[in-house]
Amino acid sequence: MTTTAAPATTPFRFFDVHVVRTRRLGPSMVRITFGGERLGDLASGGRDQRFKLFLPQAHQSEPVFADQGENWYAAWRVQDPAERPLMRSYTIRAQRHDPVEVDVDFALHGADAPGAARTGGPASRWAASAVPGDRVSILGPAVEDNGGVDFRPPPGTDWILLTGDETALPAVAGILGWLSPGTQAKVFLEVAHADDRQELPTFADADITWLVRDEQPADGSGTLLETVRAAGLPEGTPYAWIAGEAGCVKALRRHLVQERAFDRRAVKFTGYWRRGASEEDLLAEYVAGTAAATDED
Ligand SMILES: Cc1cc2nc3c(=O)[nH]c(=O)nc-3n(C[C@H](O)[C@H](O)[C@H](O)COP(=O)(O)OP(=O)(O)OC[C@H]3O[C@@H](n4cnc5c(N)ncnc54)[C@H](O)[C@@H]3O)c2cc1C
Repeated sequence: MTTTAAPATTPFRFFDVHVVRTRRLGPSMVRITFGGERLGDLASGGRDQRFKLFLPQAHQSEPVFADQGENWYAAWRVQDPAERPLMRSYTIRAQRHDPVEVDVDFALHGADAPGAARTGGPASRWAASAVPGDRVSILGPAVEDNGGVDFRPPPGTDWILLTGDETALPAVAGILGWLSPGTQAKVFLEVAHADDRQELPTFADADITWLVRDEQPADGSGTLLETVRAAGLPEGTPYAWIAGEAGCVKALRRHLVQERAFDRRAVKFTGYWRRGASEEDLLAEYVAGTAAATDED
């Protein structure tokens, strides 16, 4: 298995892009393909490569930045919240060079609820109604070996555990596509509807279990946690990657570390969203936490 240590730096830069085409992958997932003059300089590290997406406000035709240079974050924070771009985290599902294109798969949460145009969040709503020509910005990696890739199994890993919901599906697909031939992988994925399941091409020896929320019993059983808890897992040294709803991610991690005795350093876990909290709420908590930690130092 190929392994790499995380680089110390995160060389990211802005790319102004436009929607080239959209394709519905299932009832609650849409693939948006982006193009852009300088997008060829974006260098995805593959796997779970993260980036920041910047969306225009409803009254704007493109994101309006105070500054796209090195001080962008400080400038963005003090910009009028009604004017500054909405910032969200997403995964690069695929990158091609001829033509220069990047695919991003968006989970359309609330897409099947009554009044779907008003439910979900701004990014989900934007994706649901995106059309060719729509303009957004991407803060993406400028070198392949960058700090926005978290999936990094250490040397000596015998097998891989991957688990997450539909927001993690693009990353899991990227990881499965990256794994060396024959790598043993146990994969547990939860999606809203049966038709949201996807083909996940891989050379790995992957055993994939799909959980479909609208087929789950009303008593709340059949969750990701229960399914992983009941699963027989391979022998040997594991490396686990977990992403999705923060509460579920936390419970899965606790199970692996406390009940399955996984080495906590071999469990990479990321809350991709949290029930009841927008990404602005999560960012505000993070900033407040950072400030509190700084105050204590
Ligand atoms: C590193 C990283 C990579 C990510 N990659 C992807 C990706 O490739 N594709 C993808 O679809 N998502 C991905 N996400 C998750 C995505 O950023 C969040 O779902 C985000 O909250 C969506 O923004 P929004 O504007 O639609 O909703 P927000 O305004 O952030 O939230 C509005 C409300 O919707 C709820 N909500 C948010 N997401 C969901 C959901 N999926 N299901 C149900 N309710 C939800 C929130 O709890 C909140 O109550 C990633 C997150 C991270 C941190």
